Amino acid sequence: MGRPELTSPAAHQDEVPSQLAAWGISAAQLAAWRAKARAVHQRLLAYYGQPQVIRRPPLDELILTILSQNTNDGNRDRAYAALRGRFPTWEAVRDAPPEAVVEAIRPAGLANQKGPRIQAVLQAITQERGSLDLSFLAAWPVEKAREWLLQFKGVGPKTAAIVLLFSLGKPAFPVDTHIYRVTGRLGLRPPNLSVERTHVLMEHVFPPEAYFAAHLNLIYLGRDFCRPRKPRCSTCPVRDLCDYARQFTPEEQAHDARA
Ligand code: SF4
Repeated sequence: MGRPELTSPAAHQDEVPSQLAAWGISAAQLAAWRAKARAVHQRLLAYYGQPQVIRRPPLDELILTILSQNTNDGNRDRAYAALRGRFPTWEAVRDAPPEAVVEAIRPAGLANQKGPRIQAVLQAITQERGSLDLSFLAAWPVEKAREWLLQFKGVGPKTAAIVLLFSLGKPAFPVDTHIYRVTGRLGLRPPNLSVERTHVLMEHVFPPEAYFAAHLNLIYLGRDFCRPRKPRCSTCPVRDLCDYARQFTPEEQAHDARA
């Protein structure tokens, strides 16, 4: 399936949005980040290509994202498949004995936390909407839909943004641990900016039509090159754009990559 249709949010304008201005971000700084973001995005598109998305219903994406917390994609997918295989509907997951849900999602790790969290979210959505049908979110503006998702315990800015972007095709930029690290090293945000604020900033730095591909390609970059320890700068496709790599000579970068 192709990438989501993204509408252009009011967020991406020339002047510094008041929220960013309140953080001390200047027009010149924002313009520099935007220029670098575009260059990084183009480079990663050339290197990795345009990623494809599997568009799932919003509730499926929400549960999948909760399962993905603190584990890898393989374990997440095994747990999700086990959950869907064991229970025919999300209503059945909601109403199941807690230990049955915990047992089904064990491959994802932290099952004793994630199981009750998933059931609590399903119960809270039912209480709020009278059903587990989230299709109404598609018609809502992105900020209203984000706010609605964030009201549920266990749904943070990243989870909400993933549902908005991947399932609903809305302009939201999820920031996971890879993207937080990579954007910090590249110099696409202030070094000490919180993860929560980085979600806001990235939606102003990348153009909305790039959110989907940039999000995924930055994750690929983080896994393949910009690893937490010993980043492989000497072979990284964006090394000439990167603030972190500029601190080192090519010889030092090559040495780091081999270490
Ligand atoms: S050059 Fe190094 S630090 Fe910069 S993005 Fe690439 S791997 Fe990460």
